[in-house]
Amino acid sequence: MSRRVLVALGVLSACAVLPGMVMGRAPAQAAANASAAKKAAKPHKCQKPHVWQTYRVGKHESLSEIAGVLGVSAEDLKRWNPRDSRRLRPGARLKFCGPRLEPQSVGRPSDGRLIGGVNLDPDGDNRGVGWVVAARREATWGTPETVRYVRRCVSQFRHRYKRSKADPIAIGDLSRRQGGPLPPHKSHQSGRDVDIGFILKSRAKNADDGPLRVATPTTLDVEKQWFLTKCFLDNPETQMIFMEASIASALKEYIKKVYKKNRRQREKYLRFFPGGAAPIIQADEEHTSHMHLRFRCPKGDKRCIP
Ligand SMILES: [Zn+2]
Repeated sequence: MSRRVLVALGVLSACAVLPGMVMGRAPAQAAANASAAKKAAKPHKCQKPHVWQTYRVGKHESLSEIAGVLGVSAEDLKRWNPRDSRRLRPGARLKFCGPRLEPQSVGRPSDGRLIGGVNLDPDGDNRGVGWVVAARREATWGTPETVRYVRRCVSQFRHRYKRSKADPIAIGDLSRRQGGPLPPHKSHQSGRDVDIGFILKSRAKNADDGPLRVATPTTLDVEKQWFLTKCFLDNPETQMIFMEASIASALKEYIKKVYKKNRRQREKYLRFFPGGAAPIIQADEEHTSHMHLRFRCPKGDKRCIP
């Protein structure tokens, strides 16, 4: 067969055969060597349903541990990442071809990371139904659960206050795409935290992209703030809500007032406050402009630490 015929048949690329190349059958050993060399040089083809992805190495992780998490072999990981696999350093990004990673929250909110996170704002326009991303916030990634819970309560809020044209709710940071440290926050590392701006009585001049605004019991729109807070308290997956002490007190007083004649409701919600039987709300001095919510470890996330 001539070279031209081979090219035409698609067996060879037009430049594959060089003058002087032996086209006859090579001895078995030579062929094996050639195929081994070809295999090593050729980039690994990633066949569906597997896809090329990157994995950020966490602290104290070994190559075999990572391989187990990713569903690939340690040998393949070495082959795909010759340099990074020789000395594993936390934060290094390993390339791998494997089954699409299941989303998971790993480690603690203050020392953790996020795998396969979901972006609250996938189109990057800083807004969604009933919310805007507060100015200078770019960490909008969370576990699918976190993003779902936030969207749900915020859209309920919008539905409830559609007529009054309430300002969109300002969302602060969640986590970075792959979690990890997010200064100045100590937590927000594992996709389970989110900051949500307090709802004030007066409309901000530029509510669209305003920063999270400091609230006091006087400036807080306590009715709306309670509606939103209640939505999260009604979700059994809400683990904690941090807010400044006087804001927590204002909400508590409001509950005593609105559920004055409904003892069951009153007691149900008061137990979530500091000193109650099931304290979810934690009063502090830091959260003056927003509440900081943390959700429980998603079910099935075995490496998530509460
Ligand atoms: Zn926060």
